[in-house]
Amino acid sequence: MKRIRNYIGGTFADAASGGWIPNVQPATGKVYGDIPDSGAEDIDRAVEAAKAALDEWSRLRPEERFRHMMNVAEGIRTRLEEFAQAESVDNGKPVRLARGVDIPRAVQNFEFYASAALHFGSESHYTENLGINYTLRRPLGVVGCISPWNLPLYLFTWKIAPALATGNTVVAKPSEITPMTAYLLSEVLDEVGFPKGVLNVVHGLGASAGDAISHHPDIAAISFTGGTETGKRILSVAGPQLKKLSLELGGKNPNLIFADCDFDAMLRTTVRSSFENQGQICLCGSRILVESSLYDQFKEAFVEKASRMKVGDPSDENTRTGAVVSQAHMEKVLGYIELAKREGGKILCGGERVRLGGELENGFFIQPTVIEGLGQNCRTNQEEIFGPVVTLDRFDSEEEALEKANSTEYGLSATVWTRDLARAHRVAERVEAGIVWVNTWLARDLRTPFGGMKNSGMGREGGFEAMRFFTEPKNVCIQYDV
Ligand code: NAD
Repeated sequence: MKRIRNYIGGTFADAASGGWIPNVQPATGKVYGDIPDSGAEDIDRAVEAAKAALDEWSRLRPEERFRHMMNVAEGIRTRLEEFAQAESVDNGKPVRLARGVDIPRAVQNFEFYASAALHFGSESHYTENLGINYTLRRPLGVVGCISPWNLPLYLFTWKIAPALATGNTVVAKPSEITPMTAYLLSEVLDEVGFPKGVLNVVHGLGASAGDAISHHPDIAAISFTGGTETGKRILSVAGPQLKKLSLELGGKNPNLIFADCDFDAMLRTTVRSSFENQGQICLCGSRILVESSLYDQFKEAFVEKASRMKVGDPSDENTRTGAVVSQAHMEKVLGYIELAKREGGKILCGGERVRLGGELENGFFIQPTVIEGLGQNCRTNQEEIFGPVVTLDRFDSEEEALEKANSTEYGLSATVWTRDLARAHRVAERVEAGIVWVNTWLARDLRTPFGGMKNSGMGREGGFEAMRFFTEPKNVCIQYDV
């Protein structure tokens, strides 16, 4: 049994309530540890620790913040294999994915924003017949970071790193479903002598620990990634307090595949964009829209590849598709497959839970599932499923493709597959999404704005967008030209 603890003010601590929440391993369905059931009292303590550390941290020279953050990056890198194994056990994702993507990206998040601290600047505006205005950008103070379970350490650090780089101190809560690597991060903070109280990690449920972050009057801003309904709840609590909010929420992303695309590259990438991390990436394309003249060829090749994907033990080096994150989530995804059938959808492959036998008999495994025959207005095509399930639909014109792509309340990301340059630009401009990939998927440059439109969120992360979010701009106007 692995018992983990909060990290507040540089000290490991249990929840004030003394309560614990069981932590389940998705591949076996068994409880393998427990985490502190923290609440408002623990958040209060974390905020006090963060307040006490604020003055010194915010006044450090950027070079010193850079050094501290690089130490954390190096501390994670040194224990990379241990982090990767822990992420895989906790989340159900293949260990090769955790080792190749999740943990290296967490290291990179710290390195990238450590260096951003050195490069960040602000504007000045010369005003004729007056003088000059310049923008001072100062840290907000104590900020809250709340993250989801699908890319646990990757998204946790993606929020924390820019908050620290800009001189804020942080109270951070990882998902209670995947807390392990956030705990290991607190061990690294301790090992490398990261200044106490600057980053406080509090574990617990959204409704108690998360909600206490939203309510806390001394938390100036919240950076949240998770579901749209949770985002709205946080907005309803934190909004009236005028906290600054960055909300990265759900999606129902379309792939627009035109007949003139590079078929092999598109097929390879579309299999990944459908099922990587068991379809539990907010950027996965879940509605595959294919030009009619290519539809049958695509369907045959795609279903053939999807049905050959082997669901397996996440700890096996050869596994590409592991378990979904929890029993509740598995039931939700299987429930959507049943709904799709009731709505008239035809299951082309998959559709069932997988029983792997032995130790993994009760693991949360689902076959990659492809469904066709549904209109875009049905619930299956309107609601986020967030699992290894995609639907196929066809279109006859660019106009129809866009109409279908834009038919949901979400607007996170989209992929466009075409060799027609003009069309690529036209569609990229008109598709309602904060992130558009043309002839690729998930290619990321950390300097670019990241986030969604419509019900997929508010605000942008990434690059200097995040540095701007975590700072308060103050204009100073100096008259000297009279
Ligand atoms: P979730 O909304 O259930 O939980 C996210 C986090 O919020 C967790 O830490 C949870 O404990 C906390 N939380 C829950 N209720 C809360 C409350 N009332 N107040 C404060 N905090 C609360 O989301 P999830 O199921 O962990 O993650 C899946 C969702 O995240 C999907 O909808 C997915 O699309 C979305 N997501 C979005 C992005 C993006 O960048 N837009 C990235 C990854 C995941």
